[in-house]
Amino acid sequence: MAKPLSKVLIANRGEIALRIMRCCRDLGIQTVAVYSTADRDLKHVRLADEAVCIGPPASTDSYLNIPAIIAAAEITRAEAIHPGYGFLAENADFAERVESSGFRFIGPTADVIRLMGDKVSAIREMKEAGVPCVPGSDGPIGDDAAVNRAMAEKIGYPIIIKASGGGGGRGMRVVNSSDELESSIAMTRSEAQSAFGNPVVYMEKFLQAPRHIEFQVIADMHGNAIHLGERDCSLQRRHQKVVEEAPAPGIDEATRNDMGKRCTDACKRIGYRGAGTFEFLYENGQFYFIEMNTRVQVEHPVTEMITGVDIIKQQILVAEEKPLAYKQEDIVISGHAFECRLNAEDPDTFMPSPGVIEQYHAPGGISVRMDTHIYNGYRVPPYYDSMIGKLIVKGMTRETAMSRMRGALSEVFIDGIKTNIPLHIEIFSDENFMEGGTDIHYLERKLGLQ
Ligand code: ADP
Repeated sequence: MAKPLSKVLIANRGEIALRIMRCCRDLGIQTVAVYSTADRDLKHVRLADEAVCIGPPASTDSYLNIPAIIAAAEITRAEAIHPGYGFLAENADFAERVESSGFRFIGPTADVIRLMGDKVSAIREMKEAGVPCVPGSDGPIGDDAAVNRAMAEKIGYPIIIKASGGGGGRGMRVVNSSDELESSIAMTRSEAQSAFGNPVVYMEKFLQAPRHIEFQVIADMHGNAIHLGERDCSLQRRHQKVVEEAPAPGIDEATRNDMGKRCTDACKRIGYRGAGTFEFLYENGQFYFIEMNTRVQVEHPVTEMITGVDIIKQQILVAEEKPLAYKQEDIVISGHAFECRLNAEDPDTFMPSPGVIEQYHAPGGISVRMDTHIYNGYRVPPYYDSMIGKLIVKGMTRETAMSRMRGALSEVFIDGIKTNIPLHIEIFSDENFMEGGTDIHYLERKLGLQ
């Protein structure tokens, strides 16, 4: 039986909080914003039906403060909590607390978050589900030097040692030869213990020039799962995505359908519900699973642009226990979309550039979408991620989408703080990027960082 929601608390800030608020409004659902004392002036805080201050600026005291968020939901009688991305979105303990306090968590169950949050258990599940993984140790590695050496020889150098509990690009070390092996394992293990409270590490083949390609899925509570195709997020700096596009250049429909089906089969196997992303490295025509994100992603709009599916809306409908409104054959990919992440940062040094936005002019035109919470006079606080918005465009071809993005970038005007718009303008005139299919190191090489 479907259980419609009438009030949702948004446990996040910035553009995604605004995006979720707008979606709730479309669905006739009331919203509760929660905010830190540094975020009183956030756009969605002003627009939400209710707003509750949950603590001082530091995230640990506000957006990561589980008791304060649960208390805000209780006071406002919200029925469900949407975690957005980042902060508590992939925190299984939070999902558990939300549900045990009598609210619905808009996302998968705590058990599934836990299963996929641990890389060793995630890889094991995916292998069994028929999702291709990186050749590696197939589980945790121990401290027997001879066994480890033999394993690394068999996989073939270079290899990478990764922390099972790692995240955010931390807890990894590349090893080029057997003399570095033992010390690298020991160092990664002790870093993993102190950073993630989990000393388990494993070994994988290190792929030298892969692309990052990921598949978007949505699953309901009734055993249905569909995929919305793939995105290419290879343009990265320090493992942070800078530009994303969909579909991925060079991926044909048969490959998309095959990989998409493997992902949806895996969803059914683990009892996944809601929106999720399977991340792969792609090299020489092969996909290698690296991790699953059990939440909505920053780059979800490029998929929305080419499929017409509102992913946040699907998350909410799934939380209402409704069956998916789409079957796989209803999903038609049309055109090409790009997203530029706009950050408040110096385009040359990448240092954050918080402060007051003196003037902001939004870009416009057909198939141009700006997801942002900024406005004239808004002060970008120094306490959080520097992303201040996302510029998304669509065109019927990749070329049209690129020229549309160039036009839109030249139109956005943000004065008062520095932004990375000049970097995006440079990227969209780069010949290799324009050709498509550059690897995950390409941007750093171009910037002379490698
Ligand atoms: P995190 O959870 O920290 O984001 P991931 O497993 O997703 O960790 O890996 C982050 C990034 O590290 C990848 O996008 C890729 O750039 C690099 N990486 C991870 N595993 C490998 C590998 N086996 N070979 C090459 N690069 C890798």
